Amino acid sequence: MAEPPVLAADMRLWRSDGVAATVRAVTALGVFVVVDGERSPSVVDPRRWRLAAACDYCDQAAEVQLIDGQPWDVLCRLHARDHFDRPADWVRPIPQRVVRALWSTCRELW
Ligand SMILES: [Zn+2]
Repeated sequence: MAEPPVLAADMRLWRSDGVAATVRAVTALGVFVVVDGERSPSVVDPRRWRLAAACDYCDQAAEVQLIDGQPWDVLCRLHARDHFDRPADWVRPIPQRVVRALWSTCRELW
């Protein structure tokens, strides 16, 4: 079993119910994240979260999914922008049901 990843600002995390968030700070008081769609950071229990799935092309966190692909055809922002020259309607933010489906394959934080 690999060592759990070291949490740091800007990491993307997924929760088992499909919610995604970005780490803002890791302090003695806890792990502060901003959940997608919210503005204020909140402290979370890292045991409920996992590292977001990695992009198909690099080890950055995936943020978009190919609409016509398999659920695990996911890309980071960089690769979604640079490697394809198609209209924007071929990708979408990763839906919560896909996060839920992929969550069990993601790396644990604990
Ligand atoms: Zn990438």
